[in-house]
Formats: sequence, structure tokens, C-alpha cells
Amino acid sequence: MSHTQHCPAAESGPQSLHERRKAVLTCPRCAHASPPDGDWRTQHCDRGTELRCPDCTTVLTVHEQFADSDTPK
Ligand SMILES: [Zn+2]
Repeated sequence: MSHTQHCPAAESGPQSLHERRKAVLTCPRCAHASPPDGDWRTQHCDRGTELRCPDCTTVLTVHEQFADSDTPK
């Protein structure tokens, strides 16, 4: 079994206009929507990056991507 994980940073091409994926995080409490690099209050912690809602201060924990060190280039 091989679970393919695609890297969103390296997958942006003009050919993939079939389906545009919006990377928008939504706060489950107040429905505040913003991209991961939007107006969230980011704080790096041991597990990854914590995004805190600026409206209701709900913490959304985002796990950082696995560092693939053997990426062929
Ligand atoms: Zn919120």
C-alpha cells in the first residue's frame, strides 16, 4: 500500500485548471475563513503550527508537512 501525498506547493501548474482547490481554513466555531497564511495568529509548536482564530481565539492545529529529504530533483 502506498499512500501518495501530494505537495501543494509543487503542484501549482497551468494545466491543472480542472479543479481549483482553495486552501482556506475555516474556524469551526465562528466560521471565520482565511487562508493558512491569512490573518490567523500562527504559533509554531512541537507538533506543528497552531493557528489561532483572531475572532474567537479557537486554536486550529495544523500539522506540518513531512520533510521529504529524498526528493529527487
Ligand atoms: Zn473563530
